[in-house]
Amino acid sequence: MSNNGQSVKNIQLPATITIRDLAKAIDVSPIDVIKKLMANGVMVNINQQIDFDTAAIVASELGYEATLEVEETEKKENLGEIPLWRRVILSEDVNQLVNRPPVVTILGHVDHGKTTLLDAIRHTNVAGAEVGGITQHIGAYQIEHNGQLITFLDTPGHAAFTAMRARGAQGADIVVLVVAADDGVMPQTKEAAAHAKAAHVPIIVALNKIDKPNADVDRVKQQLAEIGLVPDEWDGDTIVVPISAKQKKGLEDLLEAILLVADNLDIKANPRGKIIGTVIEAKVDRAKGVLATLLVQNGTLEVGDVVIAGISYGRLKAMFDHTGKKVRKAGPSTPVSVMGLNDVPQAGEMFEVVNSEKDARAIMIERTQTQKSVDNIAKKPVTLEQLFDSFQAGDVRELRLIIKADVQGSLEPIVNSLKELSKGEIAVNILHAETGNISESDVMLASASNAVIVGFNVQADTAARNMAEAEGVSIRYYDIIYRLTEDVEKALKGMLEPEEKEVTLGHAEVRAVFHISKVGNIAGCYVTNGEIRRNARIRVFRKGEVVGEGAVSSLKHLTEDVREVKQGFECGIGVKGFDAFEKGDTLECFIIEKAAISKDVF
Ligand code: GDP
Repeated sequence: MSNNGQSVKNIQLPATITIRDLAKAIDVSPIDVIKKLMANGVMVNINQQIDFDTAAIVASELGYEATLEVEETEKKENLGEIPLWRRVILSEDVNQLVNRPPVVTILGHVDHGKTTLLDAIRHTNVAGAEVGGITQHIGAYQIEHNGQLITFLDTPGHAAFTAMRARGAQGADIVVLVVAADDGVMPQTKEAAAHAKAAHVPIIVALNKIDKPNADVDRVKQQLAEIGLVPDEWDGDTIVVPISAKQKKGLEDLLEAILLVADNLDIKANPRGKIIGTVIEAKVDRAKGVLATLLVQNGTLEVGDVVIAGISYGRLKAMFDHTGKKVRKAGPSTPVSVMGLNDVPQAGEMFEVVNSEKDARAIMIERTQTQKSVDNIAKKPVTLEQLFDSFQAGDVRELRLIIKADVQGSLEPIVNSLKELSKGEIAVNILHAETGNISESDVMLASASNAVIVGFNVQADTAARNMAEAEGVSIRYYDIIYRLTEDVEKALKGMLEPEEKEVTLGHAEVRAVFHISKVGNIAGCYVTNGEIRRNARIRVFRKGEVVGEGAVSSLKHLTEDVREVKQGFECGIGVKGFDAFEKGDTLECFIIEKAAISKDVF
């Protein structure tokens, strides 16, 4: 196969993969993968899972053609891979299990009408909302149909770049696969079907856009049969419901079909059992702090409970349902937006309730440490020192900053005065300036773009601090504006006037002097300690006095040109601009390292 004349390598990838594993699979640095995703507007960290589509896009940009390892995923499916929340329900006392609303996720190819369908269902049926009332977008909502509740996961964002999509199939009881009747089965339709099958989640096909004149229902059914979704009217076991999300037609039939499929499944949980569920989405709200949408999957979550999700935890101060109404309790299959976590958990993470904040902290510390040891493997420091190196190498002619400040009123003067500093040889490039605490996404941005984070009257949240440490990203805190600008200025100067530091590499003793015509004298030496390097300098000592200095012009071991010669070996050394060697001279080999003086101040 070829792509722009270059050969494309084939690779098989699983339905979900971490950034680290993907990087390994396609043989690039995890940071390169993070950068590619960032360029597409997706912020991820190295341990985050992304779905196959996302991985395939990144892989293709790096010269690989990825195919989904469906069979592998199916083969590997065993009890160990059943989601934790399902295992918790399986371990509950059967007598305590009661029916719960089915959790439905909508998957499908881009533009086939997922969002339109979710909106149509939301607006016609949202449970508990006033007629015409506004519902809150919290990543999930519940509707009522014929007296029965159904929970829909309503994952925002570009489908190909939401890691939640694959997890959606894991967290859901039923997948509604939207297929546009005019477009038919497309690559993402196949992949969505593969994800659902791998997670053993039943699929209902919503054959959308039947209002379109070029809709060809039979052709699409044929295509569905070809990918193993044989319509029930053809004696298969896939319900196919023709709908028009735009004209709100067939929605009742679709909801009917969902309840029918749900009836045949064992959709149960123990409302009095262990409290566990999935983080649907999370963000920081200026007024409310961390707001996380949690889908309760077993047990009943209550205000006052101590929740831990990944490494964020806290006592729940308040809970809101999908209509924005305050609630005190949330039972199985209920999505709630909660206040009280100390940090933003990741979508797709499991949450659970623990006895006390002390327990939560202990778990958090343990998780942070495991995470840290994993992260350390891929540690890539982005320090000012490193920035300086890239500057020296000519890669960077600018100091890249990410500015976080407490209020708009301080952000503006900071940004303005920093821009003022940009007049010299090196520019200050403010990649991102925003109010709010320093978050993981700031650190990711800094790490992927070699920037330094500057915080003014703000703090870094725990996850951000941990990540900065793991990635070696510098974070500087200030509470006085002129101190901040002063330091940046010093940093810039430091970059312009680097301090030079001499590093001695080794010594050699001159044992013979050879004259080579047209070249001059070469010192035949024995390396007494350290090493002599080709791209280094030599200082010649005679009876304790320096008699000459210059860069190494040639370095040979026997007759071969070499890059270095270690202690205990003989070599021939030529020095640029000096050849008056004498037997008994001592040669000192050293390099000049440039250090940014700014390092200490900024
Ligand atoms: P998504 O990418 O799957 O979420 O697709 P959207 O819901 O954004 O829909 C993509 C486009 O198809 C939009 O322009 C919708 O208005 C249009 N669309 C969605 N459903 C229907 C439908 O039933 N009939 C017609 N004619 N257009 C539809």
